[in-house]
Amino acid sequence: MESIVVLGSGLAGYTVVRELRKLDGDIAVTLLSRDDGDFYSKPMLSNAYAQRKDATGLVQTPAAQMARQLGIQLRSRCEVNAIDATNKRLHTSHGVLAYDRLVLAAGADPIRIPLQGDAADAVLSVNDIADYARFRAAMQGVKHIAIMGGGLIGCEFANDLAAAGVAVSVIDPGAYPLASLMPELAGTQLVQPFAALGVDWRFGVSVSRVDAAPAGYALTLSDGSRLQTGLVLSAVGLRPRTGLAKAAGLAVNRGIVVDAKLRSSERDIYALGDCAEIDGRVLPFVLPIMHAARALAKTLAGDETPAAFPVMPVVVKTPAHPVAVLPVARDAAGEWCTLANGNGVKMAFMDAAGRIGGFALTGEYAAERNEMAKLAIVPGQG
Ligand SMILES: Cc1cc2nc3c(=O)[nH]c(=O)nc-3n(C[C@H](O)[C@H](O)[C@H](O)COP(=O)(O)OP(=O)(O)OC[C@H]3O[C@@H](n4cnc5c(N)ncnc54)[C@H](O)[C@@H]3O)c2cc1C
Repeated sequence: MESIVVLGSGLAGYTVVRELRKLDGDIAVTLLSRDDGDFYSKPMLSNAYAQRKDATGLVQTPAAQMARQLGIQLRSRCEVNAIDATNKRLHTSHGVLAYDRLVLAAGADPIRIPLQGDAADAVLSVNDIADYARFRAAMQGVKHIAIMGGGLIGCEFANDLAAAGVAVSVIDPGAYPLASLMPELAGTQLVQPFAALGVDWRFGVSVSRVDAAPAGYALTLSDGSRLQTGLVLSAVGLRPRTGLAKAAGLAVNRGIVVDAKLRSSERDIYALGDCAEIDGRVLPFVLPIMHAARALAKTLAGDETPAAFPVMPVVVKTPAHPVAVLPVARDAAGEWCTLANGNGVKMAFMDAAGRIGGFALTGEYAAERNEMAKLAIVPGQG
């Protein structure tokens, strides 16, 4: 009997299995994960602190229940060390496991910026539920936190922690928040509302050193200035986990290279989620994962189906100043135009033909994301 093995128990791994089960109740599925295999909502990690949720409180369905519900074999705490694509075998911490078809849903690693100082290793990042448990424990008694990075995850944590009464400094080498997602006029809208919550922005600088200090850490910034803090959180970005795929000889670029059917350069190996680069795009968000998982489930069930991605705006969880954005590729041709400027801004990225290829909505305009999405063109179909 054919066996499908899924590597990863995050949103991508579990969603593809759930979708597959709607189409085929019989096919044998084994899901491997080096973590506990509990199902939780990763986006909740950056707004759970103010709600006083601990890691256990974030678990939506425990691993054993997931396995029962989905009718799968679940191997948690099982690390995959190597993929033997020629013989279709996985080398794992639980031994060797054969597969007929393999789905890689391995996620992404937080980027670590090299830092000097005797406490450089104490810098935390929060990319999974175990990280969140460590972060919560480390926050005991902390009154000030320094966040490295003013992107989506840094801004969400800054808003959440400030709302919980923690003093926050955000340190970012760029000129304004959310700079990789939005134009300057939109990003700067967050500065004042966050400052009103007590967020101290440090733009144009980065952290150079982290040293232990009596009540936490002493940071030295790239301009020589110093900052005392109780905890340092790094939120400088994620890098797709491609190591296993690369070592197995699969094509890898920014992510594991797959076509629209989520198929890698090896016929029986697929990839989706944060580890994948689908038709040249890395799409590390919930909506694209759901679309990719539905398409891949059909393919696995015997109906070869390419993933079709609609316009997928990203909602940034910053209630201090709401944001919805349809990001634009770095090399996209066109320009940002301001459509409205009140309590926030409404901006659209227009190409030469006047079509909307992206948008940035902040403040009172963030609620217009569905209307704007209807006006925008689907990337790659312009
Ligand atoms: C703090 C935070 C907030 C976010 N907020 C939003 C949001 O508001 N909206 C949105 O759209 N997106 C958001 N995202 C992004 C979104 O959560 C991710 O795109 C998505 O959860 C990734 O799912 P995944 O299954 O691809 O990866 P993961 O959830 O990282 O799962 C990877 C799995 O692979 C396993 N694994 C990896 N390597 C191995 C190995 N060698 N052996 C065995 N198992 C292995 C891991 O244990 C894990 O189970 C957020 C992300 C973060 C970190």
